[in-house]
Amino acid sequence: MKKHIKKILIFISSITAIKKNNSMIYYHEVTNGPGYSFQKINFEIFKDQMKYLKDMGYKTVLLNELEKENYNDKEVCIMFDDGYKDNYEIVYPFMKEMNMKFNIFLETNAVTNDDAYISWTNVDEMYKSNLVDFGMHTHTHIDARFINESNYQEEILYPNSLYEKYLDKKPVDFCFPFGAYNKKAINYFLNYTPYIRLFRSDGNLKKMKNKKLVMGRVGIENEDSLSVFRRKLNGGYDNYLYLNYLFKRILKRSEKNEYRKYS
Ligand SMILES: [Zn+2]
Repeated sequence: MKKHIKKILIFISSITAIKKNNSMIYYHEVTNGPGYSFQKINFEIFKDQMKYLKDMGYKTVLLNELEKENYNDKEVCIMFDDGYKDNYEIVYPFMKEMNMKFNIFLETNAVTNDDAYISWTNVDEMYKSNLVDFGMHTHTHIDARFINESNYQEEILYPNSLYEKYLDKKPVDFCFPFGAYNKKAINYFLNYTPYIRLFRSDGNLKKMKNKKLVMGRVGIENEDSLSVFRRKLNGGYDNYLYLNYLFKRILKRSEKNEYRKYS
């Protein structure tokens, strides 16, 4: 039953999709083995996806190339969250060979202190290749809804200073950890942080606010066939997560009513 509903929601999402943004896709880890994150993708599957992009004439872009407002159907921004070690050991050599660009959102505490993540030396090398750009993802991977004056220094200013130290530029891209945000968090980030592009993880939708951009992205899963991958690139899944959310809310409400009826 659940599978059917998913299929229906994806179908509605496909036919209602109006793509007006470059394709924005995200990963966490590409692995040959067990890995660390919840979103792992096998290296062979990842290779096929990148080859597909190349064959179809997609141009990969860096975060700093998203500034222009022009929409290009054949541009894709590939992002990795957190900065796991494989991003340097597996993804980077392969992408270099393919001459394709990608981006990493850094969890700076892990980059500084944890061997499961890339190091600042890795960051430096990748950045100098001009194939990789970097954005921010807080210092400790905190849920951004809980960022306020009390932890602003630790989660925004301090990681920004590390970024500036190693990359010699100011960070302007931010990705919400856990994809978690609400209206209040978006407004806080728009008004109080120096970031000009905010990235969510729920569909490839774009909004312009006070000359800053709030953008969505679509996650790529290990189970995705090439046709699902193609639909995710083409905006076919942009409305799916939202529809899924609406559907769950409606379901919850009807469950509540049932409960009221019988209690
Ligand atoms: Zn993350």
